[in-house]
Amino acid sequence: MVWPPASATVAAPPSPTPAARRPVVVVDPGHAVDEVGAAAYAVVEKESNLDFAVRVVALLRARGVDALLTRTADVRAALPGQEPARTTGWDGQRLDLQARVDIANAAKADAFVSIHSNGAADSSIRGHEVYYNSARPFSAQNKRLATLLHDGVTASLQGAGLPATPRGVIDDDCLKPFGGRCYPLFILGPSRTTDRAEVYARGGTPEGLGFAPDQPALVSRPSEVPAALVELLFVSSPDDAALLRDEAARDAMARGVARGILDFLGIDSTTQGGR
Ligand SMILES: [Zn+2]
Repeated sequence: MVWPPASATVAAPPSPTPAARRPVVVVDPGHAVDEVGAAAYAVVEKESNLDFAVRVVALLRARGVDALLTRTADVRAALPGQEPARTTGWDGQRLDLQARVDIANAAKADAFVSIHSNGAADSSIRGHEVYYNSARPFSAQNKRLATLLHDGVTASLQGAGLPATPRGVIDDDCLKPFGGRCYPLFILGPSRTTDRAEVYARGGTPEGLGFAPDQPALVSRPSEVPAALVELLFVSSPDDAALLRDEAARDAMARGVARGILDFLGIDSTTQGGR
């Protein structure tokens, strides 16, 4: 006979300590499609960001982190199983940013790190900096993540014998002023309410953003996990752009970002294959 009989109540065997949950990190390559980000000196930000993000994910996975990308190609971000938003322009960008946040929230990520490079009108401005938001319930974690990313990139560039120009960690609270008001970066900041007038003022349409016919405003879903946005050098600086085109420098920066994330997670980044 089959043991135990189907009707028997079988006590569960004593379970060992449940396996620790693997840390989850969502890595976000900034920009996509018609919004290319900063571009100069043969560096196009959306492409460079994706290359960095793929490197960072590989480094994290090698350390046992469940690392995910918000996009793996030049497409709008979308939740698993969903189609990316097809709209271009400001509408498409906003939906794309919301999808990136949704991915991090759905993954219940331990950290959400967006990778970008900077651009400035003044070509002498160079270096790396990291943004965080100070108005979230977990803002101390945001700042800690930003600081570790910043210091990780500094240490990694210096360790590779490359120039590092650390510019610090920056509260993004008023980084994107519009219409006389302060706004943080969308993916880092608190929930925001965008009414029809603001949508038009920003060059979008309520329909493009998915407003119902009688819907007066759209309330965004903010990141519910610690998040930071790292700016890896200025593509507008000839010196920085040369580093962004250099394989060894790209490798060093990716390792620096991974190191910052691993430090944030409490995983030793300095042993076992580290360099
Ligand atoms: Zn960017």
